[in-house]
Amino acid sequence: MTTVDVGTGLSALLDDDAALAAAVAGAELPALLPALAHLTGDLTLVADELRPPLRLRPDMVEPQGGMSEAAQELGRRRALAALAAFRDGGAVPAPEPDDDTLRRLMRFVAGDVADDYLPLMSHELGLPLDAGAPGWTVEQVAPGRTVEVVVIGAGMSGLVTAHRLRQAGVEVTVLERNADVGGVWLENGYPGARLDTPNFAYSFSFDQRPDWPHQFSARDDVWGYFRDVADRFDLRGCVRFGHEVVEAVFDDATRRWTVRARRAGGPDVVLEADAVVSATGQLNKPNLPDIPGRERFAGPSWHTARWRDDVDLTGRRVAVIGTGASAYQVVPSIVDRVDALSVFQRTPPWMVPTPTYHDPTPDEQLRLLRELPYYHRWLRFVQFWTSVEGRRPFMEVDPGWEHPISVSPANEALRQALVAHLERRFGDRPDLLAKVVPGYAPGSKRMMRDNGVWPAALKREHVDLVTDAITEITPDGVRTADGVLHEADVLIYATGFRASDFLAPITVRGRDGADLHERWDGDARAHLGVHVPGFPNLFCVFGPNTGLVINGSILLFSEIAVHHILGCLRLLLESGAATVEVRRDVHDAFNERVDAGNALMAWGVATVNSWYRNAKGRASQVWPFTVLDYWRMVREPRPSDFHIERAPTPQPEERQ
Ligand code: NAP
Repeated sequence: MTTVDVGTGLSALLDDDAALAAAVAGAELPALLPALAHLTGDLTLVADELRPPLRLRPDMVEPQGGMSEAAQELGRRRALAALAAFRDGGAVPAPEPDDDTLRRLMRFVAGDVADDYLPLMSHELGLPLDAGAPGWTVEQVAPGRTVEVVVIGAGMSGLVTAHRLRQAGVEVTVLERNADVGGVWLENGYPGARLDTPNFAYSFSFDQRPDWPHQFSARDDVWGYFRDVADRFDLRGCVRFGHEVVEAVFDDATRRWTVRARRAGGPDVVLEADAVVSATGQLNKPNLPDIPGRERFAGPSWHTARWRDDVDLTGRRVAVIGTGASAYQVVPSIVDRVDALSVFQRTPPWMVPTPTYHDPTPDEQLRLLRELPYYHRWLRFVQFWTSVEGRRPFMEVDPGWEHPISVSPANEALRQALVAHLERRFGDRPDLLAKVVPGYAPGSKRMMRDNGVWPAALKREHVDLVTDAITEITPDGVRTADGVLHEADVLIYATGFRASDFLAPITVRGRDGADLHERWDGDARAHLGVHVPGFPNLFCVFGPNTGLVINGSILLFSEIAVHHILGCLRLLLESGAATVEVRRDVHDAFNERVDAGNALMAWGVATVNSWYRNAKGRASQVWPFTVLDYWRMVREPRPSDFHIERAPTPQPEERQ
């Protein structure tokens, strides 16, 4: 039994010696070798002498997983020989590998990891196909019962929620304020918007795209992927677009939720449901800073996530406030067009060398990815695996380390490597170098990908990197503490998002009418990022403390959270219950553990500004542990963590 088809495309490639040699020469061997072993059954391709060390250097991922030149040479020879033998044998794929063989292939990439990593790895490889599917339906576990769920948001998390719920036979309605799916990828249409995490791993395990055009794809490709997911899994039918949820209220008597959505030009829509899933995201409420005079600016001004294509920047004097990830992409993209550009930097970010950041996937690689079964799957797996720990070990606090900036010897090694990188980039401009070297530990806030375009933009004659504090905005521009007015025709806020305002501005009322935002009081917390005590059957995906900033894949986290939510619904169905609600002691203990975990990470001890922390200074957005920890803690709900209650039995009228 095999799950792959060997199409005519592969036959044509196998018959084209030159194309094949070029494709193998440029291939990612840590992925190609297990893919070929998978396809052909030839396990000499994953022999120990070929295993990629996949070491992390402080400042970058080594090319070809750090394989030596000799190992690469041997790997390419074996790959070409295996492809020739496969062709000459009639291109018949080997039977699907048994569990032991699959483990061996995964361990070729991952090394001798503990056995309990294996289900996670299999999930990410997507083999067996759709390993993350629920595997049960409402009809099977509670025949005759229906479950209705309202999902708020049709971005990345909302899509996977809707897909999995529908696989389980749950009745789903998704309420989405925008006119299309895609969430932040729809909203962030600013020039230069693209991924800053490797692309293959930024896709769902159940819908892996073989031919991403870049390693870090552009916004239209990423948004296009999510739109395609919605089409491929027929999800649009359950989404009501243009519906902005304003209120969700739990009814103690019926144990159901009532959700109210506002529509432009129509009456509100009110839906009832057994459960509500918030898939409202984190980085999507624009932060417009409270700078005096903001409303007085005479020209057009906007936030990066509300880009205005109707304003031509050609020949204009433009001011950009902020030097985070959005500014890093906008500034180099508009610099050629504008007449003058003032970039206002409050805190310099660290830059991680990423020479291939904008590179397209070469044509011969695209052909190999499309035609050679399993190759893209293994490439995604390699990218995933490399990111599982990622740079995390460099951000862990060593309590015995004493240094004014760094938090551990590894963090210091990274800091020095990154300072050296900045010195290389800005060595010819000491004036700029003095402004761009951060004075806080790497990892305390989000690091940028650098392929040279940001430094090149800052060095342009018509660009001014302003580091004096902004004191006011006037009709004509931005004034700084030194009294200088930086004149501008257009003002762009690259000032980030109110990441800690979970579920805002929706009014959410739980048991006894409790108001969620009053309960949180600006410091959102949830058990596992999913459950809040007092709010039965309200589930969050990508909720508090589930943001990944240095390692892992946020799509995987959403998939895991959704699996957990389905597990909770199954608990209800199997026990004939109506609500699941986390125990307060369990919730509190989890949050203590999370806070203690964050206190051992660079961002937990840093005092530098970042969206990782809320106004109270607590790191309420960020997951402090490993990806495997999240998998272990979250994927399967533990019944003992919850109060599980039956629906109230209707009482005869005379007894009421
Ligand atoms: P951000 O990282 O929060 O950066 C906001 C910038 O605005 C910072 O430089 C900040 O300075 C500055 N700022 C805020 N208020 C200010 C004020 N009152 N005066 C002066 N400066 C002010 O926001 P972002 O760049 O939009 O990125 C947010 C996150 O979204 C990223 O970290 C990333 O996770 C995600 N993102 C990803 C991509 C991608 O490539 N995939 C692209 C964009 C965004 P301070 O540093 O001093 O606070």
